[in-house]
Amino acid sequence: MSKVLIIGAGGVGNVVVKKCAQASHVFTDIMLASRTKSKCDAIAAEVGGDRIKTAAVDADNVPELVALIKSFNPKLVINVALPYQDLTIMEACLQTNTHYMDTANYEPKDVAKFEYKWQWAYHDRFKAAGLIALLGCGFDPGVTGVFTAYAQKHHFDEMHYLDIVDCNAGDHGKSFATNFNPEINIREITQKGKYWLDGQWVETEPLEINRIINYPHVGGKDSYLLFHEELESLVKNFPSIKRARFWMTFSKNYINHLNVLQNVGMTRIDPVKYNGVDIVPLQFLKAVLPEPSSLAENYSGQTSIGCHIRGKKDGKDKYYFIYNNCDHAETFKEVNAQAISYTTGVPAMVGAMMILTGEWMKAGVYNVEEFNPDPFLEQLAKYGLPWHEHVNDNQFVEFKD
Ligand code: NDP
Repeated sequence: MSKVLIIGAGGVGNVVVKKCAQASHVFTDIMLASRTKSKCDAIAAEVGGDRIKTAAVDADNVPELVALIKSFNPKLVINVALPYQDLTIMEACLQTNTHYMDTANYEPKDVAKFEYKWQWAYHDRFKAAGLIALLGCGFDPGVTGVFTAYAQKHHFDEMHYLDIVDCNAGDHGKSFATNFNPEINIREITQKGKYWLDGQWVETEPLEINRIINYPHVGGKDSYLLFHEELESLVKNFPSIKRARFWMTFSKNYINHLNVLQNVGMTRIDPVKYNGVDIVPLQFLKAVLPEPSSLAENYSGQTSIGCHIRGKKDGKDKYYFIYNNCDHAETFKEVNAQAISYTTGVPAMVGAMMILTGEWMKAGVYNVEEFNPDPFLEQLAKYGLPWHEHVNDNQFVEFKD
């Protein structure tokens, strides 16, 4: 019997809850808690049958979290609130002897800078308590790390070049919207780019480097080099990697909107006075943009996310590509969600399943690539995200340089 507490009732939380409910042999009792309880209740009603308990919680408040965790007594907390809440939820897990996992690494509200250092600093405390904290178990970060671990285990003696490619070729019909929390999304895109080269980070201006990348079943799309959090843990855990980059597609329309918003100051994260009240422009912008979960109904097209890897096997050069494509309309039909929420929520459920079944269990703070990728990828395909591999297949060689 395994009780799980899910915190955060947004686009991703909706998918995690429904996927955990589908795997009732592992998740026997489920509670969904979030800042706005009515959102939890709406998701619980869709699952039906009194399967999901709900609660209100302010996850910035450790004593409130501790009281909730003590009252429900889960084995694991799945954090799908916002990255700002990572440390308070980790702290509450330590105080209540509860395992922890999330899908995005901590960043402070007042600095747009995400790094693992704050969460890795908890390693000794989790280890001493005999608890696991599993970090970044969505798609990217998450599945991209597991794909890389799978490549190392089954295909390479040494990996040298890693390019993670993330394409959303979907159309939601809105002139501008973000696919996950707008504040987090815009902070990520407007900061400087960064990639790993020969043992150090190379910094770029925001969206300075771009190229057209071919995505399976989608075709060529404008893709931009960004810094993405899994690069930090992957180059640490696979030191043979000489270069690691992350690419994401954006349409010209999206970039134009973003440029205008930036130029007029709407993406600022420092408070400005308005009518005597402090407001943060980016938080105000979030309030007027569509909720990511509301995009699901009319979304068409697919996402395509994968890893292109080059390296050596048995002394020979090898090119390996592994990816998943996910269809917005299909995920809407299944769980009332768009594919970005789905591709994050399914791996979060599978990661939780790995912990609760003991497949992935060691005390301390870890990233997904530090565990056996095989059982994870088996369940991932079973629960809605099938993946595909191409080995030395010229049709899928994107990165020759
Ligand atoms: P949403 O904004 O849709 O949902 C976030 C939820 O967290 C909301 O229900 C919100 O409550 C709740 N929340 C925010 N602050 C608090 C708080 N202090 N206490 C309690 N609840 C709170 O975001 P998404 O569902 O799109 O994203 C969820 C997480 O998933 C984010 O951390 C995001 O970065 C991550 N993510 C990871 C990806 C990956 O591939 N690894 C991809 C996409 C997202 P309210 O409704 O009241 O605002």
